[in-house]
Amino acid sequence: MEPMDSPLLEVRNLSKHFSQRGGLFAALARERGTGVIPAVDDVSFDLHANETLGLVGESGCGKTTTGKAILKLMPVTAGRIRYAGRDITVLSQEEFRPLRREIQMIFQDLDAALNPKMRIESVLREAVLLCEPTLASGALQARIYELLELVNLKKNKLSSFPSELSGGEKRRIGIARALAMRPRLIVADEPTSALDVSIQAQVINLLRDLQSQLGLSYLFISHDLQLVELVSHRVAVMYLGRIVEMGPAERVAHAPRHPYTAVLWSSLVEKMSREGAASSVAPSAWGVFDFERPTEGCRFAPRCPVYAARGRPAQCTDASQAPRLAAADGGAHVVACHFPLPAQAGPG
Ligand code: SF4
Repeated sequence: MEPMDSPLLEVRNLSKHFSQRGGLFAALARERGTGVIPAVDDVSFDLHANETLGLVGESGCGKTTTGKAILKLMPVTAGRIRYAGRDITVLSQEEFRPLRREIQMIFQDLDAALNPKMRIESVLREAVLLCEPTLASGALQARIYELLELVNLKKNKLSSFPSELSGGEKRRIGIARALAMRPRLIVADEPTSALDVSIQAQVINLLRDLQSQLGLSYLFISHDLQLVELVSHRVAVMYLGRIVEMGPAERVAHAPRHPYTAVLWSSLVEKMSREGAASSVAPSAWGVFDFERPTEGCRFAPRCPVYAARGRPAQCTDASQAPRLAAADGGAHVVACHFPLPAQAGPG
């Protein structure tokens, strides 16, 4: 049993390498001449009970891969993941199964996540019985009603097929199915994508309410910067597989120290993110930066306005001096940059 003040989740020096992948990572692999793509590279963070950590970055930065590694949906290349005091990287799938119920994922793709041929009642019954296989029929029905109530859906939805539900209702069913397993940790991967703004707000409020009621921890993965700030206690910013800044949500959002975070929060990129364009726009199309190719040392150098403004200092692209996370404004706020932005009198 973990001590009371220990993190629920501890990720240490996590790396996941692939042999093939497109986009910026492929350029990095070519640059290194190895053919190996470090989708997640030496990532470390903690997540406490009843806490939300937002993991933010552009599509392909490694945030979903990090989430999948925590669920043991793929083997890791290096590093350790401790959940509730146990190193799950060394557990077999069989040994992991009892813990797996406590770690649930809300998947991004609403339609792929629900079997189109199953009525909602069957979806929820299946999930409840996976967790509590000996439940008598009365208790099973009561649990299904309880789950519906938790996600604010009416009982008449039980007879519906997924295709008869709105996007928001499908998302609520996805959340109810995760709750059926009585989780402590939920990895929520772009949980509001493809939803209208008003429905997004409802889903966010629901997740917050559930956190208060059930003491859940969330790893909230999103490219939507405004959303991440809204929902998270702390935010970690990922760029090309590495965390480049991490700290209290308001400070990272409004007093960033890493040039990439500042770019992310700029109105230009926020607008592109809202339109779903940030994930598909090549860096050269940003128009602001001189994109060449990912480099050794700091991977953000080809796009970094500070690097350009300082006359391209060699330190930034020196493979032996890759910037490491270090305290920025006191212990809780860390940044990986040789020339961090000046401290601001931000919130908190
Ligand atoms: Fe920019 Fe250099 Fe900092 Fe990288 S280390 S973000 S290139 S200033």
